[in-house]
Order: sequence, then C-alpha cells, then structure tokens
Amino acid sequence: MEMMNMYDVIITGGGPIGMACAIAAQQKGLNYLVLEKGALVNSLYNYPLYMTFFSTADRLEIGNVPFSCIAPKPGRQEALEYYRNIHSHFKLNIHLY
Ligand SMILES: Cc1cc2nc3c(=O)[nH]c(=O)nc-3n(C[C@H](O)[C@H](O)[C@H](O)COP(=O)(O)OP(=O)(O)OC[C@H]3O[C@@H](n4cnc5c(N)ncnc54)[C@H](O)[C@@H]3O)c2cc1C
Repeated sequence: MEMMNMYDVIITGGGPIGMACAIAAQQKGLNYLVLEKGALVNSLYNYPLYMTFFSTADRLEIGNVPFSCIAPKPGRQEALEYYRNIHSHFKLNIHLY
C-alpha cells in the first residue's frame, strides 16, 4: 500500500500570516504543512524592488523574533531576509512552488 503523509493542519500560503500559523502549529506539536504557490513570502517577493514598508519593523515581527533594520521602516530586501531567516530558524515545513 502507498504510504501517505497525514497532517493535522494544512496552511495555504507561505506569506507572513501563513508562516506565523506554521510557528503556532509547530509550538503546539501539530503535524502541519504549508503549501505556497510561489516563492517564500511571494507577495513581498513581487513588491517593487526598492519598496519601503508603511509599518515599522516591530509591527512585522512574527514568532517573537526581533526584526532589526537600520531605518525604523524596513525595505523589501530586509523583509525578505527577515522572513527567510524565520523559515530556517524554525525549520518550517513549507512546500514552495
Ligand atoms: C507595495 C505594498 C506595500 C505594503 N506595505 C505594507 C506595510 O507597510 N504594512 C503591512 O502590514 N502590510 C503592507 N502591505 C500588505 C502586505 O503585503 C500584507 O500585510 C502581508 O503580505 C499580508 O500577509 P499575508 O500572509 O496575509 O498575505 P500574503 O503575504 O499575500 O501571503 C499570501 C500567500 O499565499 C500564496 N497563495 C495565494 N493563493 C494560493 C493558493 N491557492 N495556493 C498556495 N499559495 C497561495 C501567495 O503566493 C502568498 O505568498 C503592503 C503591500 C504592498 C503591495
């Protein structure tokens, strides 16, 4: 018989909210999977190259991990780096593309 992975939770979208849900599921000991149709934080990835957020960095934090950047409001590149670090720090189970 073919082996199947069984999950407690399927999360659609690997944006900041999907990643925050994944961290919460992981911390509760749930077997979860994030399905992302594009790149990690795909919306941010597709922002204009030199876009600056309206929000300050502290308002974009997830998983209680500080988001430090030079200016109070981060740019696209800093945000991509932050969420990529979150992905590897928590070893999140995200299937991209
Ligand atoms: C130019 C610009 C500036 C912004 N500035 C700010 C700001 O300063 N502060 C702020 O709070 N917000 C800002 N936003 C909004 C910001 O994009 C959202 O707050 C944030 O991305 C929301 O996160 P999310 O995870 O809910 O959604 P998204 O980041 O949109 O994540 C959804 C994910 O789901 C994936 N997806 C969608 N459908 C499917 C599917 N069927 N199957 C699999 N995957 C799927 C997408 O590829 C995407 O990665 C800005 C948006 C833009 C465009």
